[in-house]
This record gives sequence, structure tokens and C-alpha cells, in this order.
Amino acid sequence: MGKMKQNRVKEWNASKRWNPFNSYKLLAHVQRWKQIRRGKPIPPPVLITVDPTNICNLNCVWCNAEFIRKHRKNSLSEKMLSDLADFLPRWGEGNPNWKPGVEAICVAGGGEPLLNSATGFFIDKVVQNGIEVGVVTNGTLIDNYVDSLSHCTWVGVSVDAGSSQTFNQLKGLSPEKNSFENVVDNMALLIDYAKRHNTILGAKHPSYGVSYKYLLYKDNVGEMYESAKLAKEIGCKHIHFRPAGTTWDKMGTEEEITFSKEDVSLYEEQINKTLELDDETFSVYGVTHKFSSQFERANYFDKCYAIFMTAVIEPPADRNASEDAFVMGLCCDRRGDEKLELAGNIVDVNEIQKLWGSKAHWKILDGIDVAVECPRCTYQPHNEIYEQVILNDSMTYKFI
Ligand code: SF4
Repeated sequence: MGKMKQNRVKEWNASKRWNPFNSYKLLAHVQRWKQIRRGKPIPPPVLITVDPTNICNLNCVWCNAEFIRKHRKNSLSEKMLSDLADFLPRWGEGNPNWKPGVEAICVAGGGEPLLNSATGFFIDKVVQNGIEVGVVTNGTLIDNYVDSLSHCTWVGVSVDAGSSQTFNQLKGLSPEKNSFENVVDNMALLIDYAKRHNTILGAKHPSYGVSYKYLLYKDNVGEMYESAKLAKEIGCKHIHFRPAGTTWDKMGTEEEITFSKEDVSLYEEQINKTLELDDETFSVYGVTHKFSSQFERANYFDKCYAIFMTAVIEPPADRNASEDAFVMGLCCDRRGDEKLELAGNIVDVNEIQKLWGSKAHWKILDGIDVAVECPRCTYQPHNEIYEQVILNDSMTYKFI
């Protein structure tokens, strides 16, 4: 394990420390995660990710799904999405040690989730079943799903730029395309609709609503401030900056994403300026606590218990599989890596219950060599909290 480097750059306004990007929210789930023990039934995850499709209409330079888009290219069927929507609130039922059901779903990808025409139906159905939904989208198709999206707790739009030129350059589009303007108009349309219809997305709540997502890359660091101005103008609740990271299949290759000292200094300058836009209606989050000071891996833990805390339901691995099949993946950072798949081509949602916490599941944990195989881990705080707070009791958490 490496030594934790102190990151001194301000991530958010101090008065806004109770925010969705503060990883200490994971501590709220310690009692649930204490039950992750070999040979015992394991509680259902609080949150899972569902990837409705691997297909995309953009081609981002940092795409974390290039591998599956090349090798898989499939979507979840409407029938399977419907079965999942019915199963997820029941996951784990019959065990007195926990309340059954997944509590939240992140609809993401994979690819662009709104390219699956059943995604709107899926959102409506899970929301009706009492599960909260957040969606990560590239924003190009929002106008087709405004009503469904307005019932989500949050919608994160991966804009990643503050100008059409940078947008086209980073998303693999030709310079004359006006997709940037289209995405911004779509966000404004959704914000307005949600407000007028008084839906959860339009609620006067600082953490619900439309978020302007901004993955930092060497070519867009200089546009942070301009982007935040635009986000605030159209009524986004916040802008969320996060450095792009190298994907699992590109580790050790020439395509690794790195940031120079100059990029990081420019980031510091921009985040300080951007934080001036933060007020009671708009928040700026520059999330760096999950990374080293150079935005690199900070996987300061030995084992990956996160694979018992969340899961990723993905389109089938095999192009010849039944069209109603899905893959039960365990890690959003290693999508497409069979080593992190509990099963491929499942056609019965009830299988999930049988596989969760099975010997096969623990075998995956035993086989993960975090230091060698894993990219910058999204679930780094989950794993650190499991090891430090639950296993080592470093916080003597019972002494409140
Ligand atoms: S990147 Fe590695 S450590 Fe992180 S969740 Fe995935 S498998 Fe686990």
C-alpha cells in the first residue's frame, strides 16, 4: 500500500460539505456492509448500475467503454429491463437482517443509455417501484425522454467542455457539428420542464437536479470557469469536475491518461476562480479526494470488498446469446473484463439472488490483484472504509 498524499486544493465550499460527492456518506452503510462475511448471506447492494446499451453516438477520447463497444455492442431488451425493474425492489427479501431491495439505480453505460428506446420505460417502472434513479447521459437525446428524466433524483450530463470547438474535439465529432449547443438546449429544456411540473428533479433541493459533468482532460482544463458560468446560467444545480482516468484495458500502454504539472496548476487556478460562482443556488464540486495530487491512482487498500456492495447489470457478453440475457458485472471500472463478471448471459433475474455471496463471488474477490490489475478505482473510498472502519476498527466507530 502506498502512502496517502495530502491534497490541499479546495474541492468545494466549506459550508457545502454535506454534498453528494463527499465519500463519507459511505459511513451511513457500515451496518449493512458489516454483514459481508464469507459463507453468510450478503445483503443486497444499496445502489447498482444498469447499462441499457453498449452503443454510443459519440466517440470520447477517454471512453471507458471502448473495449465493450468494440467487442460486444448489444443492448438490454425491454423484457429484461422490465423483469429487472420488478426484481430489484425484492432483492434479498426473506432475510430478517435487512430490508429487501436496492434503494437506488444509476442508469449509465456502457454506451449512451438513451440510445436504448426502453430506457424511459425502465426509469418510469423503477421509480414507480420506489427506487431512486440517477442517469448519466451525454445529453444528445434528452429531448426524447424529458418526462421520464424529470422523475429522476439527478441527471448528470457529460458535457466536458465549455465551447463547441472543444466539445467536438473531445467527442470525436467534425468541427462543423453543433451538438454542444444541442446538449446545452436539452439541459435547459429538462430543467425548465422539471421545475414547471414540480417533479423530484425540479425540487428546490441543492443536491437534486441536473448536473453539468466535466471530466478533466489535458485539453479542457482551461474552460472550467466558462463552463461553470454556462451551467449556472441555464439552471444546473451544480458542476462536477473530475479528472479522466486510464481504463483497465489501456493500463501500461501509450494511451494512459496523465496530467502534467502545468495541467494540475491550471486546474488549481481554474477551480479557485470557479468556486467564486458558488452560491445558494449553484454549487461547484472539484472532486480530487479520490486521487493522488497528480490525479493518479490512489488505491490504498488490499482487497476489493466493493464487489459485494454494488454491481453492474450489462448487455449480454455473447452476440449469440438470447436477446433477453444480461451480464452480472461487479465493477464499473472494469466493464468487459470477464474476470469481474459473476455470470454472463443470464436470462432469469432470480439467478442474481443465488449468485450474490456465492462461492463464485468470493472466488472473484480472492482473484483480484488490486495493485497489478486495477485502474484508478471509483470504489476506492468504499474499500478503504471497509478495511479501515469495519475490519480494522480504526475509527472505534461505536464510540460516537
Ligand atoms: S477497480 Fe479493482 S478494486 Fe476497484 S472496484 Fe474494480 S475490481 Fe475492485
